[in-house]
Amino acid sequence: MKYPQVGLFIDGAWSAASEGGTLDVQNPATGEVIGTVACATRADLDRALAAAERGFRVWRKVSPFERSKVLREAARLLRERAPGIAGLLTAEQGKPLGEAMAEINGSADIIDWFAEEGRRTYGRIVPARAEGVSQLVVKEPVGPVAAFTPWNFPVSQAVRKIGAALATGCSIIVKPPEETPASPAALADIFRDAGLPAGVLNLVYGNPPDISGYLVPHPVIRKVSFTGSVPVGKHLAALAGQHMKRATMELGGHAPAIVFDDADLDKAAELLAASKLRNAGQVCVSPTRFLIQERAYQPFLDKFVGKVKAVKVGDGLAEGTQMGPLVNERRVQAVDALIAEAVSQGAKLETGGKRIGNKGSFYEPTVLSGVTGDMRIMNEEPFGPVALVAPFRSFDDVVAEANRLPYGLAAYAFTASVKTATELGQALETGMLTLNHLGLALPEVPFGGVKDSGYGSEGGTEALEAYLVTKFITQAAR
Ligand code: NAD
Repeated sequence: MKYPQVGLFIDGAWSAASEGGTLDVQNPATGEVIGTVACATRADLDRALAAAERGFRVWRKVSPFERSKVLREAARLLRERAPGIAGLLTAEQGKPLGEAMAEINGSADIIDWFAEEGRRTYGRIVPARAEGVSQLVVKEPVGPVAAFTPWNFPVSQAVRKIGAALATGCSIIVKPPEETPASPAALADIFRDAGLPAGVLNLVYGNPPDISGYLVPHPVIRKVSFTGSVPVGKHLAALAGQHMKRATMELGGHAPAIVFDDADLDKAAELLAASKLRNAGQVCVSPTRFLIQERAYQPFLDKFVGKVKAVKVGDGLAEGTQMGPLVNERRVQAVDALIAEAVSQGAKLETGGKRIGNKGSFYEPTVLSGVTGDMRIMNEEPFGPVALVAPFRSFDDVVAEANRLPYGLAAYAFTASVKTATELGQALETGMLTLNHLGLALPEVPFGGVKDSGYGSEGGTEALEAYLVTKFITQAAR
């Protein structure tokens, strides 16, 4: 596998940055520099804005039926090229190759779903009060979009935004992550090869605050979409608000995983361990606060720790690896500091708690018990391979703990009681709840949070709504 020197994709063509600037890209499993990515200047951003403006004028006139064909072809090409792209993704991000393949094939499913659903952006006719009057409600594309996507799912997070924008007739400038630029760059080639006109999709990289600070207020941009941390999300939402731009914010979480006494503990331990360590815990919906009812507490903990200890950590490109490194040294330092601080305040390490080796950014899968609500790790998103386990007594107690934080993205629960499950569905302040199985993040269902976890949805029909504006036309016969 040869890692590319990633450029800027503007108006249907790749180029270097106008002043030639680049940033290094590292492989987190080895710490080695494997390539570079172009660092856009203002002049490059101006070119991207002009291209997106022209691209919008062309693409909005293409019928949803024809747009759908381009998206379907892109999904096909993505599946065809998946093995090569997965290699790049693992080399730059660290996740095991199997997870990279799953992300890419899942992304093709997302594109397919938007291709279909984009044909159904129906308006409506409202009965009029006067004879001969027609009242039409029409859905139109919002216009050129500025999107900022994260490094934890470099392909699928970009596809959620690109798919919705293109299906509704918008053009888009994406700033994919500088840490993991090559796998999202492959998407630009795929959409071009699928027949997307020049200027409709543009990719820029560089200094994130400089790029968002220029694009979000710019008059060409009509919508902002961001996936990332809460502080950056609040900053961008404020900037978007100041300039009256519509915004979708998919931010962090600190998901409760609630296991009641009557749950199937084997199933809960197995599914939650797999979910916790997926992508080394660098997932916005990762289960983090494991709240276990008193009688189930010790048996669950024993089973769960057993599963976590059995996970094979290594280079994502090596056969048999189940968990790769964290994305970079910064994440290792952040996770390690949170764990060390909790331990110094009385938390108990059931397993893990240290970095692994001195090459690459590997960290042990970690389980902490004896955690309390005043510890920083119980309040800040750890975004790493660490589970925090605490017992609870009653339904009301666990709901209070689950809802205590300003986050409200995902929640997990296991119970054999229909009554408990139903009441939990009503009581939890969360954007998504998965009960007795893992069922989040499919293309056809909503994906998004409440409270500090953001607003808007990146799945289901709601995802398209975010890229459409409503126009009302009332017309008399003559
Ligand atoms: P960070 O907050 O420094 O950056 C997060 C992302 O936002 C990066 O991709 C970065 O390039 C981008 N960013 C930062 N400032 C920006 C700005 N002013 N304008 C536009 N983009 C900007 O954190 P990090 O160390 O890279 O990642 C760790 C944190 O990010 C985690 O704690 C987690 O909360 C969050 N995160 C969330 C998701 C998610 O899926 N919601 C994904 C990745 C990271």
